[in-house]
Amino acid sequence: MSTNRRAFIGQASLAAAGIVAARVPRVEAAPSFDLVIRGGTVLDGTGAPAFRADLGLVGDRVAALGEIAPEQGRRVVDATGLHVSPGFVDIHTHSDPDVLAHPGCDSRARQGVTTELAGHCGGSAAPLAGIGVAERREEWRRDGIEADWTDVASYLGRVEKAGLSVNHALLVGHGTLRSNAVGDVDRPLAAEELRAVARALEEALDQGAFGLSTGLEYVPGRYTPPSEIAELARLVARRGGLYASHIRNEEARLLEAVAEAIEVGRQSGVRVEIAHLKAAGESNWAKQGAALDLVESARRDGVGVMADAYPYTAYSTTLTTFMEGWAREGGTQAILARFRDPEARARIRREVEAQVRVDPGSWERVVVSRVKTEKNRPVAVGRSLVAIGAGWGLDPVDAYLRLLEEEETAVSFIGHAMSPENVERVLRHPLVMVGSDGSSMAPVGEAAKSRPHPRSYGTFPRVLGFYARERGLFGLETAVRKMTSLPADQIGLADRGRVARGKKADLVVFDAARVRDTATFEDPHRYPEGIVHVLVNGVPVVEMGAHTGARPGRALRKA
Ligand SMILES: [Zn+2]
Repeated sequence: MSTNRRAFIGQASLAAAGIVAARVPRVEAAPSFDLVIRGGTVLDGTGAPAFRADLGLVGDRVAALGEIAPEQGRRVVDATGLHVSPGFVDIHTHSDPDVLAHPGCDSRARQGVTTELAGHCGGSAAPLAGIGVAERREEWRRDGIEADWTDVASYLGRVEKAGLSVNHALLVGHGTLRSNAVGDVDRPLAAEELRAVARALEEALDQGAFGLSTGLEYVPGRYTPPSEIAELARLVARRGGLYASHIRNEEARLLEAVAEAIEVGRQSGVRVEIAHLKAAGESNWAKQGAALDLVESARRDGVGVMADAYPYTAYSTTLTTFMEGWAREGGTQAILARFRDPEARARIRREVEAQVRVDPGSWERVVVSRVKTEKNRPVAVGRSLVAIGAGWGLDPVDAYLRLLEEEETAVSFIGHAMSPENVERVLRHPLVMVGSDGSSMAPVGEAAKSRPHPRSYGTFPRVLGFYARERGLFGLETAVRKMTSLPADQIGLADRGRVARGKKADLVVFDAARVRDTATFEDPHRYPEGIVHVLVNGVPVVEMGAHTGARPGRALRKA
């Protein structure tokens, strides 16, 4: 083993030379490696030029790169004609706690995702304690999840016990912490209330959360003044964590919202992730360049800010997003009471109409992806509010109100709101990495009855196939870097995101000529093509394009 080790050339020098020609003893008394991946072209995740090398794995790590004879491996994976890259690190997901219903993480593993960072946009599965807990438990019960955890530690313990196919890391949601403490109240917190939120944040970080997420367009994020965020961000910075923000506005006030996120980083020193950077609504498309300029100039000033983006021209969120803050205060029952009050209903109707005109631009562009009742599923899922309204003999806005009422506000939709040019401009930017904003799922159970955004199934192959190969936005080296080392570094995962000796063996073997997404808005539950093998912690989770059933994923905790 040690003789062998010495015979291999280090990955850095291989990359520098652009070749692999290490001479390795061909005869071995016994295999040196648990698994050998032979014949592939390595994209190491750093953006360095691809190079030819075989990989030798011992346990959950890459032990060697070089020329390795097949007899040196107990198992051999043939990667001839294929590319070998680090497993994709999805820096932006909402898989908490969906992974408990879908522990095979099929929609992610089949794309080559080996690590998910969940808990984004202000909402995390943990902690689950305080105000509103019963409602959240009930919501998850419908998805088949018994939410028996309380804090981040017990949630991660539950994840471990379930055994997932990919690694799972968590941000703690600011909205979750604030709602737990005081409910969805539209006011600044009193000093002692904010101290309680801060204590809960510190506890979550101590238990392994990788940082804090905000959803400042949602409730209660939108009720939260920047001063409260600043105070919490300082605690995150002190522990070397990440601050990920779904910013306050992605439309008319996009630039102010980007500036607010940057300011958090400037004041606290925290690393900032601007979530799913976009300019939503045609009247705002011209702002995209300026938003990227803001990020770039802040970065030049030393603020650790980056952004993530998904490769689609539509977003997906909850239908109540079109309502103003006053109308959403106090939770589901309070919202439903306002719908029953004629004056409040008229005002909501007016405000929602105005909002939809700005973003996404028309009711035609608002397509329902998920409802909770059986009754409305055939009427609403996969259809625009115009079509739903036509079916009911109602204006789209009245169909909107009726649907939210009947579904007790639990409706998700897809908003077709971004320009193709902007999607490319954002993806291409060197400070932008790939994040799906999707979830672990599989076409079974409740998920199969919905028509979710295709990003949950197609994000990473779409960047490799459509945007790198077909559109020529960037080379494979850059595409893979945006999916591996960049997000791993931003999260703070030192041992993942690169193919190198000693790193964890999270790996993807893919066919660069064939890789492509097949999930569409009409038919989203479709796996991609060209993702041939996926290994998580050294164990094959996908072999020859099929899920092996293995569950070697780990609950990752911030050191
Ligand atoms: Zn978001």
